Formats: sequence, C-alpha cells, structure tokens
Amino acid sequence: MAEEKELYLGYATDKAVTPFMADWLRNLEQEKLMKSKCTSCGTEYLPPRQHCQKCLSICELTEFTEREAKLYSYVIVDFGPESLSDKAPYVVAIGEFPSGLRLTAHITNLMSPPEVGMPLKLAFEKIDDKKISYKWLV
Ligand SMILES: [Zn+2]
Repeated sequence: MAEEKELYLGYATDKAVTPFMADWLRNLEQEKLMKSKCTSCGTEYLPPRQHCQKCLSICELTEFTEREAKLYSYVIVDFGPESLSDKAPYVVAIGEFPSGLRLTAHITNLMSPPEVGMPLKLAFEKIDDKKISYKWLV
C-alpha cells in the first residue's frame, strides 16, 4: 500500500438520467453531499435513493454535512475490472458516520493495511469540469 496510486472513479455530472439524479449531481459538483430522506417513514439513504426501499414512498434530498467516519468494512481489490486493472491493488471501504449512515468509497492514501474502526475523512476530488469523485482519506 505504500505506493501512491491515483483513482478516478466518480460521477460524470452531465450524465443525469432523472431530475432527482441531476439535483444530486448539481450539488456534488459544488462539493455538497446529499442524502435522501423518505417523506413517509423517515428512512435515510446515502448515497440518496429516489424511492424508499422500505415503503416505496418518494424521498427528498437534504444536505449531508458529516465528513468524519470510522472504517466499518473494506475489501482489498487485487484484480479489478479492466478499466482499473493498472490501479490494483486498491481498497474499497465502507465508512460509517456518527449518524449511522454508511458510504462506500476508495481509500487512496493508505500507508499501512486498513483496520476496522480507524478514522476516515471524506474528501472530494474534481477530476475535470464534468467529473467529480469522493474518497476516504486516512
Ligand atoms: Zn419509507
């Protein structure tokens, strides 16, 4: 893990297929992370979902401001898809925020093996005008 590798996985901000997704991407472009909340049962989703998985009601976007999390789980990918094969090995991690919401992203700056419970900080990375990504930093 000592070797630093750039990872460019993220969102193309001009590729929204629904108004809900366009709203999510417009905010992400401004480094605002949005969660969604079910208008009926209150369940929250991160990344946001347009429809509640539990009751199928509509969800609304609201800003999610937490940035500090703890490593909940991870996988070290030794053989990735072809587009990422030159990045392997890389780490895909689930971070859990104090609110209990979890988010999956790469950890890009590990200098030693990841450990469950270690602190993570969410960071945004603009790849170009139309691409943005978020990642975990340790
Ligand atoms: Zn619901």
